[in-house]
Amino acid sequence: MTPVRVDVVSIFPDYLAPLDLSLIGKARRDGILDVRVHDLRDHAHDRHRTVDDSPFGGGAGMVMKPEPWAEALDAVVASGPAGEATVPHLIVPGPGGVPFSQALARSLAQEPWLAFACGRYEGLDERVYEHAADRMPVTVVSLGDYVLNGGEVAVLAMVEAVGRLLPGVVGNAESLVEESHEDGLLEYPVYTRPASWDDAGTVREVPAVLLSGDHGAIAGWRHQQRLDRTAGRRPDLLPVSATARALADLDVRVAAPADAAELLVLQRACWVREGLAARGRWVVPPLAEELDDVLRALGEWTTYAVRVPAVDGAPGRLVASVRARRHPDDATRWEVGRLAVVPDLQGRGLGRDLLALAESLAPADVTGFALTTGVLEEGNQRFYKRAGYRLVTGEHTPPGAVDFAKRRR
Ligand code: SAM
Repeated sequence: MTPVRVDVVSIFPDYLAPLDLSLIGKARRDGILDVRVHDLRDHAHDRHRTVDDSPFGGGAGMVMKPEPWAEALDAVVASGPAGEATVPHLIVPGPGGVPFSQALARSLAQEPWLAFACGRYEGLDERVYEHAADRMPVTVVSLGDYVLNGGEVAVLAMVEAVGRLLPGVVGNAESLVEESHEDGLLEYPVYTRPASWDDAGTVREVPAVLLSGDHGAIAGWRHQQRLDRTAGRRPDLLPVSATARALADLDVRVAAPADAAELLVLQRACWVREGLAARGRWVVPPLAEELDDVLRALGEWTTYAVRVPAVDGAPGRLVASVRARRHPDDATRWEVGRLAVVPDLQGRGLGRDLLALAESLAPADVTGFALTTGVLEEGNQRFYKRAGYRLVTGEHTPPGAVDFAKRRR
């Protein structure tokens, strides 16, 4: 089998030395991967082998010059198999690129030849992308929403994630299937011997089900752990449409700080009636809050923002929201709040499905749900009763509000 070829261009070729280690190093020695690292400075021909210069238009930092990059990339292309019209797929790591994911790693693992261009400083002169795109497919790929000093760390991560998907690199191919992100959920927790570990006086046990030998029970436990873990750490990955039919045509996402201003407008609009009914007798928190309060709450709750689908890249209108968290006073309860739907989309089951979605995030050890609504909001109270909630006497119920609770089934 022809090895998958990987070319990396960098001003720090030594940075790529870890590609000689562990499974990727072995894959190179086994002829599965053909990794070639090139020094960009070999294509800078002045006395100082200069690869950067100050930016036109001013601004901080330096920009990588186009000529060394063009020459280096042309040299990579020219070193391809003689007589074949193949070119590499060029990946340029950059914080403004498409997010790197397991799906992208899988797709790149199908390609015979990948080349990586490691930027430094403020990045590459934009014309390098044009030069490259005239010769080969180019994709800018981001490792995540943060800024690194250079592309080398991103290349190490990408080559490892892609390389381990190639046949023969990971000994047990089954272990690839069961991993986090392979089917949209995170992996379950794993344990090994000893079953009971005396950790300097604290005894830590392996969950009994894993020692039971009951494969059905083990599979069930593991699936539940995957759902709980995903709900707790990455609720944005949960399959929303599985719990919510009315939401199927809408864009449902975990809210980000960029959503905060619209969430504030939505909650103010949706709670104005309650505020008018309160006639100033009570504080209605969704009306009293300011932008900073909403931003802070995004860190304390998992909030979903529901939008109509984007048109021509412009975000669609925010039409609904809900939020949930472990109850701060009682860890066995799951608190749901700020269920809001715009007036023209009410009555279509959106509220019901959002409530179910918020409940579905509750970890396995939660035994009940809790929420608060306005004492005069009879329509809301009927809605929650239909969803299985009952009125309870809360210890900290604020004036003008009533508490509802529901046992988890
Ligand atoms: N000024 C650039 C910007 O704001 O987009 C950031 C340049 S960064 C300091 C230098 C180099 O690090 C980039 O050219 C890229 O190669 C790499 N880099 C930084 N953050 C990255 C990320 N999140 N994913 C992939 N590569 C990254």
